[in-house]
Amino acid sequence: MNSKNFINIEEITKTFGSVVAVNNIDLKINQGEFFSLLGASGCGKTTLLRLLAGFEKPDNGRIFIEGENITYLLPNKRPTNMVFQNYAIFPHMDVASNIAYGLRKEKLSKKELNYRVDHYLELIKLSGYGNRKADQLSGGQRQRVALARALIMEPKVLLLDEPFTALDTAGTEIMREYIRERLSEGGAILMATHDYDKARPITSRAGILRQGSIQEISIDTLKSDDFF
Ligand code: ATP
Repeated sequence: MNSKNFINIEEITKTFGSVVAVNNIDLKINQGEFFSLLGASGCGKTTLLRLLAGFEKPDNGRIFIEGENITYLLPNKRPTNMVFQNYAIFPHMDVASNIAYGLRKEKLSKKELNYRVDHYLELIKLSGYGNRKADQLSGGQRQRVALARALIMEPKVLLLDEPFTALDTAGTEIMREYIRERLSEGGAILMATHDYDKARPITSRAGILRQGSIQEISIDTLKSDDFF
């Protein structure tokens, strides 16, 4: 494995009945890259992310991360974390417990856990809100807490499914800041979106999915007509 083969997707196919959602896709993603999966609704973007996250098993093909074949590993055994289109939080829990939720099995010391939570509270511009009940926040603040809950897991591979749709301007800027931070630390990020305007400033490489097949494109020359 070298940094150029951080994620290696080989001949991946996934069908649902007669629908070929992902059709024999080959894709290599480097360490430090932000790869945007563009394409119209129903072209297979979410399915490809779910295959990487382990929520779907392929009919054919293999997926490697850092040289390890992860094709049939359970989601919680993979170095991936997926942020879903609909951000959700637990309304009855306080903000800090919501953010720390995914770390509960990691046996961190209280000091370390508090440090991580404080770091993410600061990132989402909610320092001092840790003890507030989640249902006492504004809608935009709640989205940022949900974002922090996924990002605090600090996965090697972050999978984002239309992350900007539900985010306000502050949330979008926080997401961009986090992306820069994660990529400089050596992860990789795949984002599914149909919003190429928001994708363009943060994208290293991009591909358009059409009926389950991928075509790599230059993000600089992309026009919306290219995939709608
Ligand atoms: P959107 O932008 O609307 O989220 P998408 O590009 O993410 O769309 P997918 O959700 O990957 O598209 O769906 C690809 C195709 O596979 C679609 O035709 C969809 O109806 C189908 N599909 C996805 N999941 C299932 C499923 N669990 N069962 C049956 N068909 C499915």
